[in-house]
Amino acid sequence: MRRNWIIGGVALSLLLSGCGESEVSEKKSEKTRESQQKRQASQQAYIEKTIQRADRYAAQYDYDRAIKVLKPVRAKETNLKTEEYEQKKQALLPMKKTVPHLFFHSLIADPKQAFDGDRKEAGYDDYMVTQQEFERILDALYKNDYVLVRPTDLAKEANGKIVETPVRLPKGKHPLVLSQDDVNYYEYMEGDGFAKNLKVKDGKIVNTMVGKPDGAYDLVPIVDAFVQSHPDFSYKGAKGLLGITGYNGVLGYRSSYNQYGHNEKVETARKQAKQTAVALNKDGWQFASHTYGHIWVGKESVATIRADLKRYKQDVAPLIGKTPQLIYPYGSDVGDWHDYSGEKYRLLIDSGFRYFFNVDASQHAWKQIGPDYFRQARINVDGIRLRQAVAGKTSVLDPFFDAKEVFDSVRPERK
Ligand SMILES: [Zn+2]
Repeated sequence: MRRNWIIGGVALSLLLSGCGESEVSEKKSEKTRESQQKRQASQQAYIEKTIQRADRYAAQYDYDRAIKVLKPVRAKETNLKTEEYEQKKQALLPMKKTVPHLFFHSLIADPKQAFDGDRKEAGYDDYMVTQQEFERILDALYKNDYVLVRPTDLAKEANGKIVETPVRLPKGKHPLVLSQDDVNYYEYMEGDGFAKNLKVKDGKIVNTMVGKPDGAYDLVPIVDAFVQSHPDFSYKGAKGLLGITGYNGVLGYRSSYNQYGHNEKVETARKQAKQTAVALNKDGWQFASHTYGHIWVGKESVATIRADLKRYKQDVAPLIGKTPQLIYPYGSDVGDWHDYSGEKYRLLIDSGFRYFFNVDASQHAWKQIGPDYFRQARINVDGIRLRQAVAGKTSVLDPFFDAKEVFDSVRPERK
């Protein structure tokens, strides 16, 4: 009885409103169609966005992560993409050859100021490269199929032991470690054409440069921009290793308690340094200790090294974080090419170091894996090496780039 009344009521209201039943369902289905189309469009946009995100990981050889990003989205396109990534992943090869390592110092952004004829000119010419040289080198490395990797991608610590972990890349690619020493923007460099610091601005890492707008005047932001436009130049987002000392503060901030005292200015500098360091880490950069006082680790006494380690721990580590990587200043290693042993080595291992980097420009690449350490030689790319290569006295740079094409004509005449 009641049911009838409801049915009757509906019929009555339809009659009253003057609508036929078919017209109502037409309007209804039109609305449904519209909302369906809207839903489909937003679904499509979501699929495309997800694929874009996955593609970025895939471009950097991280197919597992790319597949993981696609997983929650079930669609024809994502299924096809997943298949594509699976195939590309299968085609990767373990890179078993010893991985080379190139290192740089701060880049000369304004050669007129660096090469102004003062007493520091020759030093800059010997140990630095210009921004233009570095940009040419990056282009050449990319063209020659190099891919940036982290030392921590090459060997890992497991149960107190160091084990080699070859990276997997497509055939024809060559892993390469990049590092920059003394990313401190030392006092002595002021006014000589170098950036003043690294900092975070609008979510990006940039340099401050006196007399110029903030931008890319040193290695970090230049590599960042390059990887942004050439994502396949980086393995899983790897950028490089930054060697940091302590005595003039870090990353261009006069943050050292030991050097500048305990005061408000130093506290502000420390805050800025830490903020920048966190952003660098997130951006794919790693830090290495370069000792607090830029000391000759191979020559100094155990007591001096111990004191330096303590200072680093108090002054620098709170800003950049604890690091297992040590870049020897002057390449001054605690041992020769034999396996590590001795008191200094023990001290460094006990202090948490597992990755060690010296300098050897006599060969393309060199590494050593000990029971508890990974050691790698680096080639210094600087004015000395470039001039040698241009003169045909070394061929060590040849697999990376053509020194003659890279060499900057603004360098001073040298006898
Ligand atoms: Zn150094």
